[in-house]
Amino acid sequence: MSEPRLIKNVIITGKIRTVTGLHIGGNKGELKIGGTDNPIIADNDGRPYIPGSSLKGKMRSLLEFSLGKVKEDGSVHSCGDENCPICTIFGSSYEDFKNGPTRLIVRDARLPKGEKPEVELKTENVINRLSGKAAHPRIMERVPPGVAFEMEMVYGIYKEGDYDGLKHVFQAMSLLQDSYLGGSGSRGYGKVAFEDISLKVKTVEDYSSAEAGRIVNIGGKSTFSVGELLSGFEEVKSKIME
Ligand SMILES: [Zn+2]
Repeated sequence: MSEPRLIKNVIITGKIRTVTGLHIGGNKGELKIGGTDNPIIADNDGRPYIPGSSLKGKMRSLLEFSLGKVKEDGSVHSCGDENCPICTIFGSSYEDFKNGPTRLIVRDARLPKGEKPEVELKTENVINRLSGKAAHPRIMERVPPGVAFEMEMVYGIYKEGDYDGLKHVFQAMSLLQDSYLGGSGSRGYGKVAFEDISLKVKTVEDYSSAEAGRIVNIGGKSTFSVGELLSGFEEVKSKIME
């Protein structure tokens, strides 16, 4: 087995648009006047964002379920098998994991510069289980539908097998579109859609010569939906391998 060595990075950019209200819980210690008891996570300027760890964790969990890799006790999967796509792509806690670095980096998804959507405060009634009456309402803060965050993920190719592994990343994105991000998903929160996805390939030579890399272009098209990346995966893969 050859030592893993960086061959190229595939930089996946695009938008994550909220289809329903999004609630990723923030720090209650930072409660502001006129606020809510369920704040969302926001940066220092009060702009909501989607932490890369939330996005990656959810994609990992959905892919674990789809591949039957969820452990019986429900804890995070980590098998250390160097052929395991979960451990290879999303990371393994095994110290002696022999398959090279975690392939996927997921950045925080931020709003475009200067944009700051009005967050919504939504009042939800909580039913008292014994009396059946509405207890004190809970005020949930959320990002409204229709807000687009800028996403970036970097997928490293270290071995030939990593080209096929990229399909798992697209599968995880597809699974996420039919699941949810953040809290209260079973009550309709957190539906998101990926839009205008573009793929930039930067080889290890590009890095040494400060070249910008090349955008994957198929039939004059350079932005794709998740469905197109999956259905056209063989062509996408061959463009990345060029
Ligand atoms: Zn594994």
